[in-house]
Amino acid sequence: MNNDARLKPARASLHVVILLTVLLAPLVTRPSTPAAQAPSFDLVIRNGRIVDGTGSPWYRGDIGIRGDTIARIAPRIDGTSAGRVIDATGKVVAPGFIDIHSHARRGILDVPGAENYMRQGVTTIIEGPDGSSPIPIKPHLDEVAVKRVTPNYGLFVGQGSVREEVMGPVDRKASAEELDKMRGLVRQGMLDGAFGLSSGLFYVPGTFTPTAEVIELAKVAGQMGGIYISHMRDEASHVLDSVKETIEIGEKGGLPTQVTHHKIIGKGNWGRSVDTLRLIDEARARGVDATIDQYPYTASSTSIAAALMPAWALEGGRQATLKRLQNPSSRNELRNETARLIRDERGGGDPNNVQLARCNWNTSLDGKRLGEVTKIHGLEPTVENAAETALWIVEQGGCSGIFHAIEEQDLQRILKHPATMVASDGGIPIFGEGNPHPRNYGTFSRVLGRYVRDLKVIALEEAVRKMSSYPAQRIGLSDRGVLREGLKADIAVFDPLTVADRATFEQPHQYSVGMSYVLVNGQLTLDDGKMTAARPGKILYGPSTKR
Ligand SMILES: [Zn+2]
Repeated sequence: MNNDARLKPARASLHVVILLTVLLAPLVTRPSTPAAQAPSFDLVIRNGRIVDGTGSPWYRGDIGIRGDTIARIAPRIDGTSAGRVIDATGKVVAPGFIDIHSHARRGILDVPGAENYMRQGVTTIIEGPDGSSPIPIKPHLDEVAVKRVTPNYGLFVGQGSVREEVMGPVDRKASAEELDKMRGLVRQGMLDGAFGLSSGLFYVPGTFTPTAEVIELAKVAGQMGGIYISHMRDEASHVLDSVKETIEIGEKGGLPTQVTHHKIIGKGNWGRSVDTLRLIDEARARGVDATIDQYPYTASSTSIAAALMPAWALEGGRQATLKRLQNPSSRNELRNETARLIRDERGGGDPNNVQLARCNWNTSLDGKRLGEVTKIHGLEPTVENAAETALWIVEQGGCSGIFHAIEEQDLQRILKHPATMVASDGGIPIFGEGNPHPRNYGTFSRVLGRYVRDLKVIALEEAVRKMSSYPAQRIGLSDRGVLREGLKADIAVFDPLTVADRATFEQPHQYSVGMSYVLVNGQLTLDDGKMTAARPGKILYGPSTKR
């Protein structure tokens, strides 16, 4: 049946209904006691500029919420019988944001309110990135469910964790039997609700994994409806090879593939985003579903050891690393390699481009630059001496670090690409503890403030799309990420003139500003700029639980 044939009778019956309504209207008496009725909506958000998440231009309208659901969107909703009316005049009403790359599992149980996320309008966080997840994932999901948290919460299953579980942190190929065990763990992860397979091929033990082995595991996740998301093997001098590898894994694994926190590290490599984006475009043109996510900062963050030591130095775990540092000849070799990484890659060419984020064994170092720490040791802050200091740091117990080695132009070029979504790579810090990367507090607000309003790099509607419907669609969340009747009421209301990040590399513990109201599953978690006690977050389960 074609559309016209279906429409004609529908139109005809509509006319009958209208006619009857007009004729009978005077005969119907409206109930004269509205107080006796249950409120038609629990909440009405009125007069906002609705940016619905699809990328379409904003429109003015009211949103009526009933329970956990968007019940009505219309130019005007009668709020007289609503439980509560919020006037959003001058404000943007958007879908709650979705962070597809979060390290929140370190903080979610200690800080279940996740205020850093709420003040950015983030209502859903997806954990298990960079190849690292609990194995199995179910006990962790159950623990978060029992704790009751504010944002919605889901997981990827991590390839590195799977390999570690089966083989340990060793540099060799898997046997057929080991590969089978790893397939089984990925399958279990998917059955338990993972949204796909993540990898961290830069890290130990992911870095020891041949591409073909990743493809085998990706196939399992893909057959069960999941995606592949990767912290690539190399984001510096070999970044093009890494993008090719990520595309190949999607293509041969038969599943959507994503370059996560895409960046170009190291001065000598700046500008290569032109080529990485071309590779993504070419892959998409031939039918590979390849996408990107990104955080809006020109510094990255990971451990000092992972960033400034070669993988071979970390094989076998901490004791093996310490042994290599005690042997004068391997220590010498290591120092040279660390100096190279400071000069050409994560170190950004200058020891002061390396900043210590958190040193549990000596918190007075938190926030200091590697050059400063080298000076404290009585050494000139040369690259070679800084390399020695870095090795000393690893010996003492290691620190997490921040690495200023990314170019603003690459950042903006990647942000503008239509296949790029926004994700934090942050987590839920303990307020005031250490000197974490400001992305924990500022990612989403920084895009809306700095890159939309101040620099006009992308339009507001496009930014919201990159934070809501795009990540939702990527992981198959069909009931969130767009403002539409019938979908879950995850909503962020903010002032487009004042929304901004406040966290800096020097003073990271500062919440974002400009977010007025946040709803998670229909409940207010941020009310007129104040956190509420509500904990409405749901555990979200991936595609294989829906079959
Ligand atoms: Zn990562």
